[in-house]
Amino acid sequence: MKFATFLFHGREAVGVISPDEQQIYPLTGVPDMIGLISAYRGESFDALSKDLPLPLTEVKLLAPIPHPRHDLICVGMNYLEHALESARFKRIEFKKSPNPLYFSKRVGRCPATGEDIPAHTDLTQELDYEAELAVVIGKRCDRVSPQDVWDYVFGYTILNDVSARDLQRGHGGQYYFGKSLDGFAPMGPWIVTADEFGPNPHLAVRSRVNGELRQNGNTREFLYDIPFLVSQLSSGFVLEPGDIIATGTPSGVGMGFQPPKFLSPGDVVECEIEGIGKLVNTIR
Ligand code: MG
Repeated sequence: MKFATFLFHGREAVGVISPDEQQIYPLTGVPDMIGLISAYRGESFDALSKDLPLPLTEVKLLAPIPHPRHDLICVGMNYLEHALESARFKRIEFKKSPNPLYFSKRVGRCPATGEDIPAHTDLTQELDYEAELAVVIGKRCDRVSPQDVWDYVFGYTILNDVSARDLQRGHGGQYYFGKSLDGFAPMGPWIVTADEFGPNPHLAVRSRVNGELRQNGNTREFLYDIPFLVSQLSSGFVLEPGDIIATGTPSGVGMGFQPPKFLSPGDVVECEIEGIGKLVNTIR
């Protein structure tokens, strides 16, 4: 099932997308997406209490979780080819560590598909994109073993982990500032529930800039898979319903090209994941 947050006549609501992706059924008695995630027990489409459908063309989709409760948890270097391109850019050697690189990404409001990404040209000349599968946690997750992780995953969405490479480099090697500028966490178009895929789904992850294919990876290339990540994180802190883990990006980001291909105002960035959809944003 696909759940979306949307705006209709100025009112924010949560709905379920029709199988043909032409309509949205507003859900009744659901305050917001985190409320839905917390209450959802795997009900079927027919069992959900919902209003009459609206054509998708008449609503404005928002990010599925427009205001996440916590910063996003991000995994760096989770695809071998991207780890190698990143090491080349930094002129260092890549060695796989037994533990992933985690960092957090501050987020106020996530832009939706169709919204702009601010270029922040006063701060960065090295604006970059990263198409990522984002895991949405469904239940309170406290020291969960890898084999039980699938009981705690609500679903998936697409995140563009927008990054200012010069700020990433320029602050003591800490990514936080360069990953966290306003508008740097576009998310959408909706959340697809995990039952639509099996455990450890192999999904194509692609990005295009102005129509040019840049990234073309697959989640089967993960160096650290979802059970490993969720289990390890939950061994140290509690994950809550609606928490988001961005699982890293495949090779083909702007800094990976020689010379690099960074983003400029007017560029259109499209992130696409098989079985989920497309997240499209313009740099302003
Ligand atoms: Mg990333």
